[in-house]
Amino acid sequence: MKIEPAIRANICLNAHPLGCKEYVARQIAEAKQQTPFQGPKNVLIIGGSSGYGLSSRIALAFGANANTLNVSFESPPSEKRTGSAGWWNNYYFRELAKETNHIHLDLVLDAFRKETKEEVIHTIKQHFGSIDLVVYSLASPARINEETNEIVRSAIKSRTEPVVGNTMDVTTRKIFPITVDVASDQETADTVFVMGGGDWANWIHALFQASLLSKGVKTIAYTYIGGPSTSSIYRHGTLGKAKEHLEETAVSLNQLLQDALQGEALISSSKAVVTKASVFIPQMPIYVSCIYDVLLRKGKQETILQHKYRLFQDMVYGSNRITDDQKRIRLDHIEMEPQIQEEALSLMKNTSEEAFKILPGTELFIQEFYQLNGFGFDHVDYEADIDPIQLAK
Ligand code: NAD
Repeated sequence: MKIEPAIRANICLNAHPLGCKEYVARQIAEAKQQTPFQGPKNVLIIGGSSGYGLSSRIALAFGANANTLNVSFESPPSEKRTGSAGWWNNYYFRELAKETNHIHLDLVLDAFRKETKEEVIHTIKQHFGSIDLVVYSLASPARINEETNEIVRSAIKSRTEPVVGNTMDVTTRKIFPITVDVASDQETADTVFVMGGGDWANWIHALFQASLLSKGVKTIAYTYIGGPSTSSIYRHGTLGKAKEHLEETAVSLNQLLQDALQGEALISSSKAVVTKASVFIPQMPIYVSCIYDVLLRKGKQETILQHKYRLFQDMVYGSNRITDDQKRIRLDHIEMEPQIQEEALSLMKNTSEEAFKILPGTELFIQEFYQLNGFGFDHVDYEADIDPIQLAK
């Protein structure tokens, strides 16, 4: 079949396998252009099939020669579906990473479940011995409550008053207002349950109890802080509450790892980028386009791979760690420069819809959105007949 992008409400419902190969290959090529660094030997990544988790995996596998084990939740190709982009990213990462002569394994399982943690423990014992770094990069709209067997859903809502923000339809580039309602206490608690630090803590405790964490082990999770243009929806909303919980979890995990293994638990605030998870958040498509635009003009735009490479090379394993008063690694320091925030905010307020549609930042946002799902690459023949099931054999 010929595969064309199927997009509904900023969600891409399919993926182009050969475009996903190109997506992974490009990040690997970028990683190879960087200076190698001394890092962990064995890495467990929770959520390493796309976005920040995938870039972390590539940076560590190609920059530090690490072995990687990735847990992600993705759909394989079937008679009717192409398979998800993350599934193909995993597939081609393994293929392209063969040249490293290291171990790279994938488990496609629900990370929130106890059985998954048991399966991972078994796999580590069999193939890795112990783990030096755990990257927790999960973004999910729902999590099973294993005590009640119910699915708990997160909500992207405000916590103070209804907020009207703008968002962009990626297919038409039309901007339209969207009202974000105030969350109930239950909705806030549910969002914290899904996107807070509870499951990260469960992972670290399970691995610790199984004696699979090496001396000096590190673990890191990714938060987002952002500035005034996103605060009412993000940081002061339900997602921000979940991130506060994730950050508090780092403090208690840090104590445990420091005392027992001279290790550390870290939080890094990363910059806003286009990912499957972020385009769905109201206001983000506009904000990311504008911040990209400002960063491009100033020559300060980093790709997702460069961003994570710098995190591990300079700030996790190097001596250039930038932290704030809460000890969070501020990898987002460029995005957060006051001048850059001011210019992005002014662009958001003062640009007409017609002018916004053709900003270089908007063009880059749209291009990255398509490329996340394997579309829009020059070197891929999108006219070709593709049989995803056959390809996966
Ligand atoms: P993403 O959607 O690209 O990736 C999410 C990953 O989680 C995928 O690998 C997916 O398979 C996995 N996943 C989801 N549910 C799962 C489950 N039940 N079991 C196993 N795996 C599951 O998301 P992303 O934007 O890269 O987000 C990763 C982290 O980075 C999140 O904590 C997010 O808040 C944070 N972050 C993102 C941004 C941004 O702009 N995208 C900025 C700062 C921080």
